[in-house]
Amino acid sequence: MNKLFKNNSEVNKFSPVKLSSHHLLAIEGMQKTEIQKLLDRADYFANLDKHADTKYLSGYVVLNVFFENSTRTRVSFELAARRLGAEVINISLINSSIKKGESLLDTASTLNAMKPDLLIVRHPHSGAPLLFAEYLSCSIINAGDGRHEHPTQALLDALTIKRRIGYLEGLKISICGDISNSRVARSNIHLLTTMGAEVRCVAPSTLMPSSLEKLGVKCFNDMKKGIKDADVVMLLRLQNERMSGTENPSEREYFNFFGLDETKLSLANPNAVIMHPGPMNRGVEIASALADDTNRSLIKTQVEMGVAVRMSIIEALNHSKNKT
Ligand code: ASP
Repeated sequence: MNKLFKNNSEVNKFSPVKLSSHHLLAIEGMQKTEIQKLLDRADYFANLDKHADTKYLSGYVVLNVFFENSTRTRVSFELAARRLGAEVINISLINSSIKKGESLLDTASTLNAMKPDLLIVRHPHSGAPLLFAEYLSCSIINAGDGRHEHPTQALLDALTIKRRIGYLEGLKISICGDISNSRVARSNIHLLTTMGAEVRCVAPSTLMPSSLEKLGVKCFNDMKKGIKDADVVMLLRLQNERMSGTENPSEREYFNFFGLDETKLSLANPNAVIMHPGPMNRGVEIASALADDTNRSLIKTQVEMGVAVRMSIIEALNHSKNKT
């Protein structure tokens, strides 16, 4: 190790991260050391002035391909890539090729023919980014696939917690809401358990997957028990677009039992912080005043950390491709 630095973390901050893959498809299977290095490098980017010269990837071409609506994730990736000096092209395929009947593989090979360096993909079906990674020669980032994973969200959530609390290991983190339909929950469960946090999932039984405990989390149908002494309370939206109709609870009833309000929050650690990946439904999963409580709500910091984390990842994927 370079003698100038006291520990690995300090070394990681100043150089691009090398990963075992040149794709980021999921948190499941990632090593703790890789996650740690990406977070350290992202922390370095987060501390830089936004006008600092970070144009390390000039000439690098990024296609931001979204088959599903998104504002914050798409813009966050675009800003991250531009801050690294890359060229970014946004392609919205929500109403385009799929509706015209083109198969996913035909779409993939058309995009590949344009010779991008990186494709950032959001798709309503789990596994679509993996399929792209198998058939395309460029790097792929999963920007959210169906109910499966949203790896960059989990990394930005982890960075947000680390910057506020200082560490992840041993923290009690309660993820509350529509766990069944949430790719954010799945990525966070994998990341936070890998990093040694105690993860609890809180949901009505209709929105709690059956085999979740196998992933090393504790499950609660009673929010008061699930958030007791929690250091972090993470809320999720009811993802009605992925429900069949029978699981949709009434919003008022849902707020009574699973919405975060002052009374329920008083059971958590007195210093507990509140998080939400957005978009947020005030008065459904969270009381409006708590969402805006700048002492306890980290929701805006999550958005800010998104850019830094995505810079760290985009840089790492370039560094990890065909390099020894
Ligand atoms: N923005 C997150 C996602 O894409 C969470 C949500 O939509 O509720 O999964």
